[in-house]
Amino acid sequence: ASLVAGSLGALSEVMGDAQRAAGATERLLYLLAAQSPVQSVLLPEQLPPRTANGASLEISNLDFHYPSRPGSNSLSQLSLQIAPGETVAVVGPSGAGKTTLFQLLLRFYDPQQGTIRLDGVDIRLLTLQDLRGAIGIVPQDTVIFSANAMENIRFGRPGASDAEVIAAAQMAAAHEFIERLPDGYDSFLGERGVRLSGGQRQRIAIARALLKNPPLLLLDEATSALDAESERLVQVALEAAMVGRTTLVIAHRLATVQSADRIIVLEHGHIVETGTHAELIARNGLYASLAALQFNVQ
Ligand code: ADP
Ligand code: MG
Repeated sequence: ASLVAGSLGALSEVMGDAQRAAGATERLLYLLAAQSPVQSVLLPEQLPPRTANGASLEISNLDFHYPSRPGSNSLSQLSLQIAPGETVAVVGPSGAGKTTLFQLLLRFYDPQQGTIRLDGVDIRLLTLQDLRGAIGIVPQDTVIFSANAMENIRFGRPGASDAEVIAAAQMAAAHEFIERLPDGYDSFLGERGVRLSGGQRQRIAIARALLKNPPLLLLDEATSALDAESERLVQVALEAAMVGRTTLVIAHRLATVQSADRIIVLEHGHIVETGTHAELIARNGLYASLAALQFNVQ
């Protein structure tokens, strides 16, 4: 379980899709997912209906400490309401609880206190499959599988047609670079295949999320710097991915926080500030100092 808890990023992206994974690594991840400390309750008739705009999220009074650290809350009295279609950026210093919040949304853990409701339904009443089926994840570090480009994107929704994969790649600004690979969509990727740049990997992840078409998108932006062209293309892809769905993004880019409907600033597991980029800069508090460091503004 500690491995499961270790990193959201790549690991949890794989776990949501583990059942159909074939390789040894994927099988290991599936075992880890099965050992997740959280139980699911099957109540199919309580599944929330899909809405056109994305999911609503209602996070109420969360208290959470990791099982290994009783007495040390990673989230404290955290409440947050997100309307369908809203984009909320989460920022805060290292250790503030950003990744932990995502882990609770995906039910790698349950909080000791408080509730999370997706479209009004307590997520503990959903199966893990239904919950994670409703959430798309774009992790910091995208897992590229030993498979061709077409299959790598299709991982977002097995059963999608080639045309659907290509449409998702086009929206994610990945189509052009894939077409330029030696064998186009048939090009073998991964350790023994074509190595992709950081920006290309991110666009593969975004194409997977678009193909999955979930009502809720969790983005954990890469902290690593991209070249200007990749930065622009990733931004184009992210904007496409956010349309018509609710998005929660752990933000490291100025463009992302500036375009968010709302920014929440986490510190020591608490929300300490909330507002738009301009409002929070004017407030001259924690956000303003983080922005000065991370986004090189002011
Ligand atoms: P952030 O993503 O904002 O940098 P995290 O959510 O990773 O912060 O961490 C929040 C707090 O929880 C930190 O104090 C961190 O040390 C602790 N923490 C994170 N993951 C674990 C874990 N698997 N086990 C125990 N403590 C953890
Ligand atoms: Mg983190």
